[in-house]
Order: sequence, then structure tokens, then C-alpha cells
Amino acid sequence: MPLYDFECRKCQFKFEAFLKMKEAPDALTCPECGSDKPQKLVTAFQTNSWSSFLDTMEKKVNPQKFK
Ligand SMILES: [Zn+2]
Repeated sequence: MPLYDFECRKCQFKFEAFLKMKEAPDALTCPECGSDKPQKLVTAFQTNSWSSFLDTMEKKVNPQKFK
């Protein structure tokens, strides 16, 4: 079963949940406030981590570009 990251649209609480193939993320509820329909974060989260990692590396290689 794949593990996904979710963020509550109401309180921005982030949590992980296993999702079965045909199970809709709408069926999940926020463990913090009980709000339904959390936002799935898988792709966005990985992209953000990767691009901030690249920014950090580029600042080390090419610091004058960021002044
Ligand atoms: Zn919530």
C-alpha cells in the first residue's frame, strides 16, 4: 500500500496515510480537527524539497547570483 502525505485544508495539519488503490482521499479525515477532504501532498512536497536543495547547492557554487 502506498503512503501519502496529506495536509488539512482547514488547520494545515500535515499527516501521512495509507491509501488503497480505489480509496478516495476524500474519505480521509484530519486527525487534528476532523475536517474531511485533505489535500494530497506527495508530488508538491518532493518538488519543494528538491528545488530548495538545488537553491542551496547553487548558492555554494555561484554565490554572486544571489546578492
Ligand atoms: Zn485539520
